[in-house]
Amino acid sequence: MLTGPNQKVETSTVWVDSHCHFDFDVFSHDFDAELARCRAAGVSTIVVPGTTSARWERLQALAERYPMIQPAFGLHPYFIEEHREADLARLATLLQSTRCVAVGECGLDYQLPHYDAKAQQYWLEAQVELAQVAELPLILHARKCHDTLLATLRRRGFQRGGILHAFSGSQQQAYQWIEAGFKLGFGGVLTFERARKIRRLAATLPVESIVLETDAPDMPPAFLARGEVNHPSYLPRIGETLAALRDDSVTALAEQMRQNVQEALRLSLK
Ligand SMILES: [Zn+2]
Repeated sequence: MLTGPNQKVETSTVWVDSHCHFDFDVFSHDFDAELARCRAAGVSTIVVPGTTSARWERLQALAERYPMIQPAFGLHPYFIEEHREADLARLATLLQSTRCVAVGECGLDYQLPHYDAKAQQYWLEAQVELAQVAELPLILHARKCHDTLLATLRRRGFQRGGILHAFSGSQQQAYQWIEAGFKLGFGGVLTFERARKIRRLAATLPVESIVLETDAPDMPPAFLARGEVNHPSYLPRIGETLAALRDDSVTALAEQMRQNVQEALRLSLK
């Protein structure tokens, strides 16, 4: 780009956190200050997935107040005992709200103690159906269940893709998800040298198939002190780790990651 002698070229790098539970109580004492901390670190957008119906109202209010929050609404398998049949009708209405970017976080988690696979499947399928009706992508949670989850989407003819967050499967599974139209979320795990399998995957998968996330307040990166709460402002440091692993420039990677989230969630981010 050509510029005149007195024009400054903006070269600041901006990052998108594709998965952060910013609606959780740990951030609620001062949302303004927490978001200012994100912006100061270079994080311009935070995708906040829903977890339980009790938290949807706060999430909706956050999205109305802060343009940098992109909300998704859903019922997380971890909180299965809190979900009620009436939540699904409420969810269907919420999905019509113009700022909702996806259905989620939903999915399956066979690693939870005493998980009930049948009940998890019920809530998953109900939400896949709602996503199909609302023509929205999915934000998925998957632990030890990749084959079942992929088979469910295939059987239901789900075509709108989305994001599989906190990817922890094999290389073969990664390519199955990519083929199914999903981007794979990588986060703080990348900062642990012992996470060799995940680091290798993130370094070698096609760059268009990756999105970055903090999953804050969970999944603390290696550079945090013990007991310190994870925060979306740490996303750029995770991004720098990925750039180093891929031997890519930080600025180019940040731009690609932003584009990937835009594509997965059909957004137009500034
Ligand atoms: Zn999550």
